[in-house]
Amino acid sequence: QMVSELTDFMGFQDLLEDEEKLVRETARAFVNEQVMPIIDEHAQQETFPHHLVPAMGRLGFFGPTLPEEYGCAELSYVAYGLLMYELERGDSALRSMASVQGSLVMYPIFSYGSEEQKRFWLPKMAAGEAIGCFGLTEPDFGSNPGGMRTRARREAGGRWRINGAKMWITNGSIADVALVWAMTDEGVRGFLVEKGTAGFSAPQMKNKWSLRASVTSELVFDNVVVDEERSLLPGVLGLKGPLSCLTQARYGIAWGVLGAADNCYQTALDYAQHRVQFDRPIAGFQLQQKKLAEMVTELTKAQLLALHLGRRKDRGAATPQQVSMAKMNNVHCAREICHSARTILGANGIMGEYPIMRHAANLESVYTYEGTHDIHTLIIGEQVTGLAAYR
Ligand code: FAD
Repeated sequence: QMVSELTDFMGFQDLLEDEEKLVRETARAFVNEQVMPIIDEHAQQETFPHHLVPAMGRLGFFGPTLPEEYGCAELSYVAYGLLMYELERGDSALRSMASVQGSLVMYPIFSYGSEEQKRFWLPKMAAGEAIGCFGLTEPDFGSNPGGMRTRARREAGGRWRINGAKMWITNGSIADVALVWAMTDEGVRGFLVEKGTAGFSAPQMKNKWSLRASVTSELVFDNVVVDEERSLLPGVLGLKGPLSCLTQARYGIAWGVLGAADNCYQTALDYAQHRVQFDRPIAGFQLQQKKLAEMVTELTKAQLLALHLGRRKDRGAATPQQVSMAKMNNVHCAREICHSARTILGANGIMGEYPIMRHAANLESVYTYEGTHDIHTLIIGEQVTGLAAYR
């Protein structure tokens, strides 16, 4: 499992800046030393490895592209992508935690928050001293969040009252602050609701078969009263608020899943070279070579797509539809690679000693969250035909 280098068939790393290479290597060492030895146990036990959060903060995993003045690393989007790659090579649960923290909570606070909200939350969140969650999905509204029923009403004295429920919320039960999107008389608005606020609870959803090392929760708002200045994000109104955050997170996912795929590919390659049947390594059989050749080809294409998108994003030229394409394609290809890798390991492919089944199960969530594969297909369909098929 402790494979030393990432798969790079086309030399995509020749196109990286020195700083990006350094960031990636540091993240890789962290994942090898701190994540690989413990992650299967956490997934089996359905526990989040909380003790890793401070080190993840120190390594710049949280909000890495945001400015240094708020305690962040101010790295390129390509460096951010590489970080997600290495982290998800460990487990999608850790990458999910970092995606939510950085792209879904810190990014909107930075983009739409008041100066006080930014100064209060961003340095703590960058360091991993505070954890955030992002509440958009509801029991009856997943792909169509615009129908949300969670309501916030303005009250006298600069206060808001929130009622409703969110579901499938990553980090929910361990979060110090929930960024909740609620319908108001003006349209959708974002509220920062702190842990311990009266009427707010976040019960954990148990018994998942996927992302078992990640905390997933409901958020319940029963007459929760919050202070406008502290809670309301003043800078955004309407669904474009949550959707802009999702574009950020999806970008990271397009890179991250390749780490999971890479780990499965390398595990399968190594296994095939050592497993002997009919007196020769199974890597010498054409059928297994076809699987390996297809895996490395798909991985390579996806890496180049992610890198190209990252460079566009660094110059402000990546469109949401381009991000949709990368999320859709790269998650699909990672999912296929993991399934193919599993077959190469035969019976061992289902065991926790190898990372494959865990990655394959994790990717089922990744395929569905942050816009399902179908919805991204329809976003691309709309872009090329001018006709929206999903509504
Ligand atoms: P639905 O929207 O009910 O879709 C069901 C099926 O119908 C899918 O195949 C979908 O593609 C298809 N479908 C829907 N609409 C159309 C259409 N117009 N045309 C064709 N097909 C369609 N949400 C958050 O807000 N915050 C989080 O932190 C978060 N974390 C998550 C963690 C996990 C582990 C999981 C599993 C989910 C998480 N989610 C989170 C929720 C996730 O974003 C939703 O599950 C996702 O948006 C899909 O919604 P749904 O599950 O309600 O499926």
